[in-house]
Amino acid sequence: MAAEGTLKQQHILVIGGGIGGLTAAIALRRDGHAVDVIERDPSWTVYGVGIIQQGNVVRAMKQLDLLDDYLGAAFGYDHVEVFIPTGQRVARIPTPTLVEGYPANVGIGRPALHKVLGDRTIAAGATVRLGVTAEVLDDDGDGVTATFSDGTTGRYDMVVGADGLYSATRAQILPDAPGPEYTGQAVWRHNFARSEDVTGLCAYEGPIGLGLVPLSDEAMYIFVTTPEPDNPWRERKGLAKAMRETLARVPAPAIRTLAEQIIDDEAVVYKPLEWLFLTGDWHRGRIVLIGDAVHATTPHLGQGAGMAIEDSIVLAEEIAAADTPEAAFNAFRERRYDRCRYIVDSSLAICLGQLGKGPMIENATATRAMFTKVAEPI
Ligand SMILES: Cc1cc2nc3c(=O)[nH]c(=O)nc-3n(C[C@H](O)[C@H](O)[C@H](O)COP(=O)(O)OP(=O)(O)OC[C@H]3O[C@@H](n4cnc5c(N)ncnc54)[C@H](O)[C@@H]3O)c2cc1C
Repeated sequence: MAAEGTLKQQHILVIGGGIGGLTAAIALRRDGHAVDVIERDPSWTVYGVGIIQQGNVVRAMKQLDLLDDYLGAAFGYDHVEVFIPTGQRVARIPTPTLVEGYPANVGIGRPALHKVLGDRTIAAGATVRLGVTAEVLDDDGDGVTATFSDGTTGRYDMVVGADGLYSATRAQILPDAPGPEYTGQAVWRHNFARSEDVTGLCAYEGPIGLGLVPLSDEAMYIFVTTPEPDNPWRERKGLAKAMRETLARVPAPAIRTLAEQIIDDEAVVYKPLEWLFLTGDWHRGRIVLIGDAVHATTPHLGQGAGMAIEDSIVLAEEIAAADTPEAAFNAFRERRYDRCRYIVDSSLAICLGQLGKGPMIENATATRAMFTKVAEPI
């Protein structure tokens, strides 16, 4: 890290109380800045399935001093198992840990992760206001005056836009930036009681990409990707039947048994997959974007949230090292650009291969390459 800069005890607004916004708030509070978080969702909820995180996230959680809380809410594992569609296991790939004595990978429920990050954000002394957005961000060069949707205003030294794929902050500061692009693929997810033999990511190769991920001793989830060229609008009613029908095309007996348990439309999470990568600026003046607002990946390598969390650490480090917000934000983008681009491009390549729009990428090869890349220091 570079030498100490002069940006001490700044007043910083974080827009978005998701994974990126909360880790940014935690990292910035550790450096003594005053942090206000605003979150659009008045109930501050996240949907109930889980995510996969890799060794670089375990390392990042250690840097944020969150590791024990995080692992206490997660299921750690040190291998990935690869299956062919008939259900035979063809590989068990050990995965490298980046923090000695701790697991290489983690499966964690989104609500569990949200609770760990939300609790720490509040305990760290950040203020969190729910059901609030920033209607106007007026950057006059010396600071930013934010006018909030509840009629209040605030004056800030810097603003961090962590408001996700459809970022309103991005629309305000970079109105000409490209928006999210639909891939032609969607993902279906559903939680189950964990099968005893699911002790790590179980990835099934074949025309229907699917995987089982342990979330805790009790729970696991399945993800299934399907081509959806016309991006159909799917009503909640009928989702369970449609997911069962998709899984009926997978011959593996274990998957068929799980499919029979999918009977509740409310328990199915269906999501069209989109991506975004800003090749131009990631900030304007005193307002910077992090996470999905600036680089949103498809989930094929399980690294979107990881990139948002790493962004938070690097942003806080560069603010600590800089004398101006511009210098910090330029250094932040410089450090993050190639790594985030790699994740977005390689994940998209897997997706396009599955759709027949590009060469088929072998999952195990891409995963090994990703592990090597993310093991590099941030
Ligand atoms: C299907 C799917 C599966 C995924 N699986 C994985 C995985 O296994 N592993 C992994 O690492 N990543 C995964 N990801 C990616 C991961 O979810 C994202 O990269 C991560 O959530 C990005 O965090 P973020 O904070 O940038 O955005 P978000 O998590 O989207 O958070 C944005 C927050 O901002 C709030 N907000 C939005 N607009 C406003 C506004 N105007 N004002 C105030 N608040 C606002 C939102 O309510 C939300 O709380 C997956 C993504 C998808 C779509």
